[in-house]
Amino acid sequence: MSIPENLAAILARIDAARKAAIAPAPHTRLVAVSKTVDETGIREAIVSGQRLFGENRVQEAQRKFPQLKAEFPDLELHLIGPLQTNKVKEAVALFDAIQTLDRVKLADVLAAERDRSGKCPRLFLQVNTGEEPQKAGVMPAETETLIAYARKLELPLIGLMCIPPVEDDVAPHFAFLAKLAKENGLGELSMGMSGDFEMAVRFGATYVRVGSAIFGERAKI
Ligand SMILES: *Cc1c(COP(=O)(O)O)cnc(C)c1O
Repeated sequence: MSIPENLAAILARIDAARKAAIAPAPHTRLVAVSKTVDETGIREAIVSGQRLFGENRVQEAQRKFPQLKAEFPDLELHLIGPLQTNKVKEAVALFDAIQTLDRVKLADVLAAERDRSGKCPRLFLQVNTGEEPQKAGVMPAETETLIAYARKLELPLIGLMCIPPVEDDVAPHFAFLAKLAKENGLGELSMGMSGDFEMAVRFGATYVRVGSAIFGERAKI
């Protein structure tokens, strides 16, 4: 299947999942995850009408997207991988949203860069719903404190994001994230990948992040 065919199929499946959901979110947007995908592949998706992309490394995105964003002003780019504080300046300049805010220090540096540059991408808190020690994301018990901290800094926090443990049933993770967002007055929920985005839609995802089901399997790095 080609990239345009894959995209059309995914969009149709999102639509169907929304129709089947008891309480679907007001919108569910597809983030086409283009990490490791070259410019040719990204352009195929753009030609098919896709405008929202996700990258998980700042440097890789810097190589691929400035030119594309100049050419397609309505293109929107989200950072979905961990962000180091020494890359904040570049990330703020390039990304429209950062989905991986997960610690006080990063909130501080984002606020300082916002004050310096006068702009700040919209932000999601990444929650480590599986409490995996090696994984990025704020621990569930510390989430409300970090939300309050980001709000005190007047950062544009709009939602929560999670990546459930690979071996787990995803449903409880999605349900938990949705509940946490609701309790904290956050409207956006980024959850669901190639293997489980329909389940995420059922639990109210407003953003699903799909890579390999659009662009094909990635080479293992
Ligand atoms: C790679 C990645 C995805 C997409 O994964 P697929 O299984 O290829 O759809 C989604 N979210 C994050 C954070 C990723 O790093």
